[in-house]
Amino acid sequence: MNKEEAVKIAFIGGSGLYEIEGFEDVVEKDIDTPFGKPSDKIIVGHIKGVRCAFLARHARSHVFTPAEINQRANMWALKSLGVEQIVAFTACGSLKDNYYPKDLVIPDQIFDRTKDRPGSFFSDGIVAHISAAHPFCEGLRNIIHKTVADAGLKHHFGGTYVCIEGNRFSTKAESLVNKSLGFSIVGMTAVPEAQLAREAEMCYANISLVTDFDSWKEGEEVTNDKVLEAAAVNISNSRKIIKDIVSKIAARTEDCGCRHSLAPSIMTAKDKAIQSPHYKKIALFVDKYFKK
Ligand SMILES: [Zn+2]
Repeated sequence: MNKEEAVKIAFIGGSGLYEIEGFEDVVEKDIDTPFGKPSDKIIVGHIKGVRCAFLARHARSHVFTPAEINQRANMWALKSLGVEQIVAFTACGSLKDNYYPKDLVIPDQIFDRTKDRPGSFFSDGIVAHISAAHPFCEGLRNIIHKTVADAGLKHHFGGTYVCIEGNRFSTKAESLVNKSLGFSIVGMTAVPEAQLAREAEMCYANISLVTDFDSWKEGEEVTNDKVLEAAAVNISNSRKIIKDIVSKIAARTEDCGCRHSLAPSIMTAKDKAIQSPHYKKIALFVDKYFKK
């Protein structure tokens, strides 16, 4: 890879956030990966002089359901560009009385209720068990926290994102159970995105944008009008955050460990792993361990 073309920062847009503002020198990258096509072309350009990438998770025309999103291809494609840090935006429902529509949440935990999604790059003769105790990059979370606080945006630093399979929203019973377990927000896409980013040794943090109170709250039933009104504010806030944060992320120098997450995690013996036909699909991130 040509070092001059490396793109070290990426933003992923969720429902409603299909493009971002302030991009200059824009190029669209149509990338093929060993796992298939990403959700869409990846937009590469400069924001405030910082080279970065943007990917619409559901595609710009929103054609992929949460379970249909090819998350492995998305993460592989970003890694192939040189991405080291990802800020991912998602829409979510609130499970807390004090997490209101239009609030921002920077979750620190995930609870996985998805059912049928390829959740790992590792299989077919190569095994790795990454640590997921803290599923988001703490350093990146801290930068997001400072950025949204400085911007005066109403936010919650911390909370558990319960990821459901979709496509439908939760029943009232499901919503009440998720709330009773102490979860903070509910969404459909942070799994397996967060763990795939870690397997590919990229820092990853999430900004969840509350659109509604899910279905648990009496008198606050979700309507399209309410969701659209909240979504419009959330999208505007997301674009502001991107402009405010990009230089801070670019200036980050700490070694948070995400870039070495596979070092203690790969279990398979070198000779066996390299013989696996699967090896070439993930050579992009494992070569440094097996071919040194
Ligand atoms: Zn990190």
